[in-house]
Amino acid sequence: MAHLLSKSKYIRGLQCDRALWLDVFNPRLARYTAEQMQRFDRGRDFEFAFKSTFPDGIDLSAELHRNVDAYPERTAQLLDGVHTPTPLRGTPPNLGGEQNSPTPPSCSPKLGELAAPCGLTEECVHEQITLFEAGFLYDDVLVLADVVHQNADGTLDIYEVKSGNALSETYKRDAALQHYVISHCREVRTFNVVYSGIDDFVVTNLTEELATQHNEIARNIEAMKEILRHGEPATPTGQHCLEPYACPYQHYCAQGVRQMSLF
Ligand code: SF4
Repeated sequence: MAHLLSKSKYIRGLQCDRALWLDVFNPRLARYTAEQMQRFDRGRDFEFAFKSTFPDGIDLSAELHRNVDAYPERTAQLLDGVHTPTPLRGTPPNLGGEQNSPTPPSCSPKLGELAAPCGLTEECVHEQITLFEAGFLYDDVLVLADVVHQNADGTLDIYEVKSGNALSETYKRDAALQHYVISHCREVRTFNVVYSGIDDFVVTNLTEELATQHNEIARNIEAMKEILRHGEPATPTGQHCLEPYACPYQHYCAQGVRQMSLF
């Protein structure tokens, strides 16, 4: 299913409604400086170094590349692949005779729905598996998580990797959207933001803090969908074009300002 918003579009939309609209309908207008491209490269290198600490991790991007709408289904296949329900408590033992092996009940959630707790079986063992760039879709928002580790009880530990050396508010807003989407698809045990320490990775568990922000995020998403139902907003330029990120559409919006100033 095609997504409407992504993490980067949501973050763009928090900065400017016009930038969100351009990101969705005219992204080719974006221009990034050499310095911004270098920062992206540094971020990728740092992320790669952290992923290397999970030698058995499966990288979905190596299989699916830019086909991002295929990521949630493939993620669900991998997470549910070796799901081994054990017999229900009180199930009579098989005393021989004709074999009758009905398909065991599954606790796999449908995409976009909250996973049901595995109350059906005495013990429900999930494969402990680590995925890179696992995809989750909820509320028309697609997010790809840097590192997702599934525990034996089916819960997930999420690691979002940031190359900065401090935990900024923008990192938290980014993480809050991911927590919102992923926790509506699966049970999240911990959500961690990873950033750079003096000579090691710093891992900060933000699970409780992020869980309090769901209502605000739902409102933001609805507001962004409303923006995208209409034409390009005529938002004027200002300080918001530079903070928290330098907007890649500044040259485009500046043209509009110049054209207006001719009259
Ligand atoms: S340059 Fe400014 S007004 Fe134009 S899209 Fe970017 S943030 Fe919005």
